[in-house]
Amino acid sequence: MVSRIPMLSRFYSEKPVVSDHVELSGSEAHHLHHVLRADIGTEIVIWDGSGREFDARVLKMDRSTVFCKIVSVRDVCRELPVTVTLGVALPKGERQRWLVEKTVELGVTTIVPLIAERSVARPTQTALGRMRRTVIEASKQCRRNRTAEIATARKVEDFLACCPDEALRWIAHPESSKPNRSLLDRIYTLNRPTKHVCLAIGPEGGFSDQEIEWSDRYGWHRVDLGPRTLRVETAAVALLAAVALSAV
Ligand code: SAH
Repeated sequence: MVSRIPMLSRFYSEKPVVSDHVELSGSEAHHLHHVLRADIGTEIVIWDGSGREFDARVLKMDRSTVFCKIVSVRDVCRELPVTVTLGVALPKGERQRWLVEKTVELGVTTIVPLIAERSVARPTQTALGRMRRTVIEASKQCRRNRTAEIATARKVEDFLACCPDEALRWIAHPESSKPNRSLLDRIYTLNRPTKHVCLAIGPEGGFSDQEIEWSDRYGWHRVDLGPRTLRVETAAVALLAAVALSAV
């Protein structure tokens, strides 16, 4: 049967796939059934965030559920070779969505919303839910098979203190008083095997002096991204891209 839907369209199963039958529900089922107008027999790819992807075929559909049969399964790793925890004082609205989308594409493992002294607002449960939905959409688009985590919000000091000493820990701060070697220089001269990178990006008003003092106390390195003041989301993407490019 000729399918009208784009080849290799990907659909997310919220429940882990544990047998050769999968039921897609919610917006995934709606999109496949009512928007793409799948037929019985349509071939799709399903992923469940566990690292595997599944070739599947539509068996039957009702109003809210699409029943699929798994045809084959693959372990496909599209992750960075390092784990990246990004602590970031989130911007609002469309800029927040953009930040989550781009950092998921670049391979972030966990996003921790930071509550900073100069943060405007604490992320609500609704905002966290919206971000988790953006993670799914971005993962579908870039074909990641592991779902990045949106962690619950933490105060800056807690975040700085809880990232392990053996991780590479960078805090973005303009005009850092530490010697300002270029970022790529810093990355390429890393002379220890790094499995875990932690990044911290401040709010529009910047980190406070106290927060920068904490970062020194807990052994973080300051990173200056140049003489221009970047938006929160630009700084996050710039720093993560530098890590991603040096790690591939
Ligand atoms: N007015 C603030 C700018 C905040 S920009 C200040 O002067 O500190 C928001 C966040 O993005 C900053 O807290 C920092 O983490 C990051 N950032 C923006 N531009 C940067 C730069 N040029 N170098 C390093 N970090 C930067």
